[in-house]
Amino acid sequence: MDTFSNLIGGEWTPSSDVTENINPSNTDDVIGTYARGSAADAEAAIAAAKTAFPAWSRTNVMARHNILKAAAAEIFARSKELGDLLAREEGKTLAEGIGEAGRAGQIFEFFAGECLRLAGEKLPSIRPGVDIEITREPMGVVGMITPWNFPIAIPAWKLAPALCYGNTVVMKPAELTPGCAWALADILKRAGLPDGVFNLVMGKGSVVGEAILSSPDVAAVSFTGSVGTGKHVAMKCTETMKKFQLEMGGKNPAIVLDDADLDVAVGACLNSAFFSTGQRCTASSRLIVTEGIHDKFVAAMIEKLKATTVDDARKDGTHIGPVVDQKQLDTDMKYIEIGRGEDGAKLAWGGERLNRGTPGFYLQPALFTETTNDMRINREEIFGPVASVIRVKDYDEALSVANDTAFGLSAGICTTSLKYASHFKANSQAGMVMVNLPTAGVDPHVPFGGRKGSSYGPREQGRYAAEFYTTVKTAYTMA
Ligand code: NAD
Repeated sequence: MDTFSNLIGGEWTPSSDVTENINPSNTDDVIGTYARGSAADAEAAIAAAKTAFPAWSRTNVMARHNILKAAAAEIFARSKELGDLLAREEGKTLAEGIGEAGRAGQIFEFFAGECLRLAGEKLPSIRPGVDIEITREPMGVVGMITPWNFPIAIPAWKLAPALCYGNTVVMKPAELTPGCAWALADILKRAGLPDGVFNLVMGKGSVVGEAILSSPDVAAVSFTGSVGTGKHVAMKCTETMKKFQLEMGGKNPAIVLDDADLDVAVGACLNSAFFSTGQRCTASSRLIVTEGIHDKFVAAMIEKLKATTVDDARKDGTHIGPVVDQKQLDTDMKYIEIGRGEDGAKLAWGGERLNRGTPGFYLQPALFTETTNDMRINREEIFGPVASVIRVKDYDEALSVANDTAFGLSAGICTTSLKYASHFKANSQAGMVMVNLPTAGVDPHVPFGGRKGSSYGPREQGRYAAEFYTTVKTAYTMA
């Protein structure tokens, strides 16, 4: 079996402890053995990143551009193989895995271009003879802590801007999915990234993550994961006065109005509630449906779910792969019981464990109906293929239910009315709003992020990423 080491200061560095990367579609399939780093490994990586920073921050922008462009080219050329690895370690379907790998390539390509568009401002002063220049400088060593559900896109959308703007990096990927992050490290090393500029330390959050959060040499931390861990990251970063950015959970609403095109609405809701096994922060778990279309919508959703195949992520014909691991499956099953039991909702479809040809974490997507927005299944993030229909009277009630949540990442509306679509875009309390589209599925070149409990700090992706990965300097010159 292959063994994969950490990348510290440009050297592949083995670790005495290792973890097995298991395929959730077939738990007998071990993808490889991956290093489980220590706090000392994290400290060595931070020291390497600190040493590499002065030279990298001054590296010619064309050289940076060439490295990011070479990385993008290799990701595109290997997108099928990387997508297969992603599907094998995370459980997304092969098509979704290949799509996500392509997305990582697009992000590196975008930021390769941004290397050549770094700009500042020059302004006149209110004092005669004085010029003012406003420039952006890199932060220094940036720590990155990433989740398992987008194992190549999220590392890419943090790494590419960090490197573009001249930072050096220590990344700790999720323990469940180290394979894609390792592949990115390998690609960047081959693309010519100097030693120590990007360091990968795989391992536990409580060990490697804590070492990153505690280090005085880490200037900023970009985190994506659950709300609970995010709050801890915020506290630790505040103690050491680090800049931080948090992308966390969601309880995203998708509104379906009476005037919606039924096929469009069902397609969008099926996709965003259940594809990628519902394990997307932008998944819509609350389907808010007005009473005139409610019964038709529920019947059409169940018809579609009946025709949906849950099986091995890499098998032809699979629409939905397995849940990522036993722990997440237990959480999903627990919430299905809460929905049926204490919440008193009706389980209209699915929710049972499935056996397939291989031992895997297969779950029939669950659709609840007759639910209200105060139920636990509608307030707490489940992060699985579990969605609820909430029946409402009209658009005003739908908007109020959509915004009545502790989260605010993505929100959707299906309607043919320009009036309601425009009103929703203006009044939704979410960072991203979709009209006649799934709540999940975003472009790589525009800002990504939310409000309330879903996000904290500057947006990720697109040119807005500069807000996090740079610090502004204002210089005054008397000529
Ligand atoms: P998680 O919070 O369990 O883990 C995220 C990362 O934090 C992992 O790398 C983990 O090892 C690390 N970590 C855990 N404890 C730590 C500690 N004490 N110190 C430092 N690091 C620590 O989340 P997860 O289960 O991997 O991911 C699922 C969650 O991520 C969901 O809530 C989902 O909504 C969220 N998510 C959000 C976005 C977004 O952009 N808003 C995108 C994807 C996923």
